[in-house]
Amino acid sequence: MHRRKFIKDTLARLPFVLLAPSLLASCSKNEDDIKANGKTVLVIGAGIAGLAAARKLKNNGFNVIVLEAQDKIGGRLRTNRSLGIAFDEGASWIHGVNGNPISTLAQEAGMTTYFTDNDSFVCYDIGGILRSDTLYNQTETEYYAILDTLKNSGSLTQSFETVFNNLHPTKVNDRLWKFFLSTYFTFDRGDLDKVSSLYYDEGEEFEGEERISTNGYDTIPNYLANGLDVRLNQRVSNIDYTNAKVKVTHNGSTSEADFVLVTVPLGVLKNNSIQFSPTLPATKQTAIQKVGMNCVNKFLLVWNIAFWDDENYIAYTPELRNKFNYFVNVKKFHPAVNALMTFAYADYGRQTEAMTDAQIIDEVMAHLRDIYGNSIPNPTHLLRTTWDTNENAFGAYSYTAKETEMYHFDDLAEEIHDKLFFAGEHTSRDYFSTAHGAYLSGIREADKIIAL
Ligand SMILES: Cc1cc2nc3c(=O)[nH]c(=O)nc-3n(C[C@H](O)[C@H](O)[C@H](O)COP(=O)(O)OP(=O)(O)OC[C@H]3O[C@@H](n4cnc5c(N)ncnc54)[C@H](O)[C@@H]3O)c2cc1C
Repeated sequence: MHRRKFIKDTLARLPFVLLAPSLLASCSKNEDDIKANGKTVLVIGAGIAGLAAARKLKNNGFNVIVLEAQDKIGGRLRTNRSLGIAFDEGASWIHGVNGNPISTLAQEAGMTTYFTDNDSFVCYDIGGILRSDTLYNQTETEYYAILDTLKNSGSLTQSFETVFNNLHPTKVNDRLWKFFLSTYFTFDRGDLDKVSSLYYDEGEEFEGEERISTNGYDTIPNYLANGLDVRLNQRVSNIDYTNAKVKVTHNGSTSEADFVLVTVPLGVLKNNSIQFSPTLPATKQTAIQKVGMNCVNKFLLVWNIAFWDDENYIAYTPELRNKFNYFVNVKKFHPAVNALMTFAYADYGRQTEAMTDAQIIDEVMAHLRDIYGNSIPNPTHLLRTTWDTNENAFGAYSYTAKETEMYHFDDLAEEIHDKLFFAGEHTSRDYFSTAHGAYLSGIREADKIIAL
């Protein structure tokens, strides 16, 4: 049970992705080996895309400054250690370790990981009734078969939900199906009623184990940022690319550069938080509008005792899709801590952002008490995210909404006049929505600038 699992079934038909060694060349060059080329690059955003690009550009002699709106680097790779363990508020998993550049980076950066084997899994229906493995496995097989073929009935303007409901009306109200459409689909792909019925399974993926970070994904941006000139608390509000040098306004002051690389999230671009002069080309504006930005929120709950199954995953199939139906057993990789991580997706995920901690705990505990009985205690601590209203992201990650065409991802990546460049997970047609997609997009844009 992990993001993009269903694509694995069709992976055999895809060419195996070999990474050019340059993509993995993340190690710093000795300062003395670097010949300055006199060109300046401003990188907007210190997420993994911006940092990967900045590091490569610096290693190739560019004078690079990274402007970051927040008081820390990492963007959607951020780790909260306030409860004594690493709670990753953004990315947690390396999705497929084989050939994945994040695997190499994790090794170099010292990020430790745990193999979240999907076979270590238990599923409950309402009333705390254990669901049979046979039914679960049959439904899973049928789910992947439907995903393989549904697009044949899809169209550009229809959502996945519309087509699915037409083809499989009896499954819509089945609680196990709701679980698959939520935790297998919406977690990865966005709101069911907004995802494209044509392009819901686009994108490539790496093979191999899914591994979850145990000491925090932020080890990777911290490693990449080593030696870079990163200016924190610098919110960029205006980018003027009228003249040969690009002018960037941040916190009321203006900086100039030969090249500017914009790596802010798609949600920030959709929100028009940055004004471009002249306005961005129509193709880019259309792409910003058409590609979707989903909502996934994460919740870490800690107890004095552990009362749950000793499995990696605990699934629950309530009536409401997208609501606290899937628990990661954090105790498996932090044995001294009694903690579960759970999720809320799409519209329910957005709703949670207006809820108090007490309301969240009530809703989560209602599910857990249905499974494990009324005597289980409330958690002692809760950590939570609010990605949809976060002004530095306005959402979790991009997805193929209805009316998205795959070339829109290329349009998001398209440079303007060889001086304004764009990177970030949403600019990766092959690996959008992932940490590795973001990383590779940063390397891609650095290569473009170096080639100039
Ligand atoms: C809840 C969640 C779960 C995820 N799970 C996984 C997972 O398990 N595995 C995986 O591979 N991927 C996962 N992802 C996706 C992954 O985290 C992202 O794709 C990746 O981190 C994006 O990197 P980026 O550099 O493109 O953008 P970001 O990391 O968002 O970096 C952009 C930076 O721009 C800054 N910024 C914004 N506005 C401005 C401004 N005006 N001026 C200056 N700076 C600005 C932001 O503060 C941020 O630091 C998850 C994401 C979320 C939110």
